[in-house]
Amino acid sequence: MTDGELESYGADVFSERAIRRHLPKAVATKLIATMRDSRPLDPTIADAVAEGMKNWAIENGATHFTHWFQPMTGGTAEKHDAFLEPVGPAKAVQRFSGRNLIGGEADASSFPSGGLRSTFEARGYTAWDPTSPAFIKRHENGATLCIPTAFCSFTGDTLDMKTPLLRSIQAVSRATERLMGKFGKPAAHVEITLGAEQEYFLVDRRFYLKRPDLLQAGRTVFGAAPAKHQQLDDHYFGSIRPRVLKFMTEVEQRLWRLGIPAKTRHNEVAPAQFELAPMFESLNLAVDHNMMIMEVLRQTAEKNDLVCLLHEKPFEGVNGSGKHCNWSIAYGGRNLLTPGDDPRENAIFLTVLLSVIRAIDKHADVLRMTTAGAGNDHRLGANEAPPAIISIFLGDELNAVLDAIEQGRRGTGRSGKKCKLRIGVDTLPALPKDTTDRNRTSPFAFTGNKFEFRAPGSSQNCARSQTALNTIVAESMDAICDKLEAMKGDFNENLQKLLQRLVKAHRRVVFSGDGYSSDWPKEAAGRGLPNLRDTPAALEPLRDPANVALFSKYGVLSETEMASRWEIGMEDYRRRIRIEAGISLEIARSMVRPVVADEFSRLAAALGRAKADGLRTGIKGLKALCLKLGACLDDLHVKCDTLEGALARGGHEEQIAAENDLRKTVDRLEGLVDDARWPLPKYREMLFVY
Ligand code: ADP
Ligand code: MG
Repeated sequence: MTDGELESYGADVFSERAIRRHLPKAVATKLIATMRDSRPLDPTIADAVAEGMKNWAIENGATHFTHWFQPMTGGTAEKHDAFLEPVGPAKAVQRFSGRNLIGGEADASSFPSGGLRSTFEARGYTAWDPTSPAFIKRHENGATLCIPTAFCSFTGDTLDMKTPLLRSIQAVSRATERLMGKFGKPAAHVEITLGAEQEYFLVDRRFYLKRPDLLQAGRTVFGAAPAKHQQLDDHYFGSIRPRVLKFMTEVEQRLWRLGIPAKTRHNEVAPAQFELAPMFESLNLAVDHNMMIMEVLRQTAEKNDLVCLLHEKPFEGVNGSGKHCNWSIAYGGRNLLTPGDDPRENAIFLTVLLSVIRAIDKHADVLRMTTAGAGNDHRLGANEAPPAIISIFLGDELNAVLDAIEQGRRGTGRSGKKCKLRIGVDTLPALPKDTTDRNRTSPFAFTGNKFEFRAPGSSQNCARSQTALNTIVAESMDAICDKLEAMKGDFNENLQKLLQRLVKAHRRVVFSGDGYSSDWPKEAAGRGLPNLRDTPAALEPLRDPANVALFSKYGVLSETEMASRWEIGMEDYRRRIRIEAGISLEIARSMVRPVVADEFSRLAAALGRAKADGLRTGIKGLKALCLKLGACLDDLHVKCDTLEGALARGGHEEQIAAENDLRKTVDRLEGLVDDARWPLPKYREMLFVY
């Protein structure tokens, strides 16, 4: 133990320290090597590993174990088995074998498979991923040992998010090693890193329970904008309220025990919106950790009589929530996206940078596809969110470097002297060191030593975007290697020519302007950049033969796996739209309409009485209000019927249109009806009272 070590950090993880303490020395050494180098586990040590893991888990209060995996629902899944094994009448022991650890069989018939598995062959298999350590999940009465696993069908097709992610890490690692070889770098460990910033909303549980739309769809389908929401920008980075701080502290304590490096916490732009950012980690682990972060946020909120909303757009008219995925590549421990000090390192930096730029330009549709989903449709393109057009922001300094490469002209060096930029020979002109300009409107921004992909939604598994990013970058690096191999002559000159060509060909994807301006979609169309506006359009790239070939080539997803993902994505989309439309109709008819009808009747009756009594004042006001309420009541009736018809016909576009139209009337009514009788908590309550 060193000075100041945070003792509870990682206490609930079967860490290297726990492994050394609970396994025989030789077994521990082998297991740790497997974990560090992502090598397959030696099956002869499985029983010994299982025994040690069980003892550690029991010491920590565990009674059960589970294979923890990430099915294509977007969440996580677990089925618990007790260590318990009866060995005679009223006698039992606690057992956990190597077989229990390495693989499991689960009835998978209710997990989405997109046609990959027929129900008669409903078996699914889980396989231990030793690169992500086992951990313990605590609850009030004990704990469960969780073993991170991959999940596939009987035929070996993947049914989860982790398997393609692991395959893509392998693909981009190989490509990186190949590219580094061109620069004469010896083979070294490639590490893809991810830091995932998680945005979320908190609402008081009392309000939540009175909002059937939040309960069922995670989003408010009705709610008029309050007079004050985020106009004053007084929430962003504001002082954190004590109740929220208590919640955040509990979240962090649990995360730290799980070895999750939660680092930053702050208020976000919208009222009642917050962010949690961990330190970046190795990609596969960071993805698992983000899934755990979402779970801990939800559970801890509940304990504090709050509800954590991870939906991308819980409240119309204020910012939605995203998950900023910060991605980079390290080679032999050195970040390849950090500009170096010597010419060779800068040549590497520029080549990797251009590999990414080329990848995003060629495969913008693939990246956009990974952010598709009913929830994110409300967010992409809206206020403060990245637009559905994928473009790259580089900042002024890097743009100037691209200019110099493109034109092969003289630039101004760091020393201030005019010089001709020659890749691999000169040091580069002033490069961003840390202080990149911030452009919050860009979906894909270079931020000094990493790329930040901001389009993913707050509820989405990072594995989706990261799998695609790895694959397209692998393809780009390979293409660059192929080109370099085909060129004769001096390496530096060839590289110079190649980079110049790449800048010319792919610069259109680089955009420094305001991504939220109404001119950008027009300009983007002129540049030939795709703008896939909603989920059905964004999922289409899964069926593009060129993309199928790309993912097959890298062994990340087969043709059938791609087809199944399209199927699952569309099905999920249609169901969510339907659930939202259904809950809208129910609320409008059974909660809003009775109140409006009642108020209208009361007023109409009062109007009749007033007239009969010959009253001179108040009649005008009563009549005007009656007319307004009556018109809305008629509208409500008609629009509910329209939505009902749309639901019966089943087309999602028609349902969305009818739901939006109904919302206009309900939101108008919210401002007309007696506040004391309005049946739903309002935005000004939910967003400000907590
Ligand atoms: P912001 O984008 O809000 O300015 P930071 O610059 O602090 O935030 O970083 C955001 C996230 O990026 C953090 O999770 C951080 O750990 C992560 N990050 C930093 N360096 C890397 C890297 N090399 N690879 C991946 N993520 C990184
Ligand atoms: Mg950020």
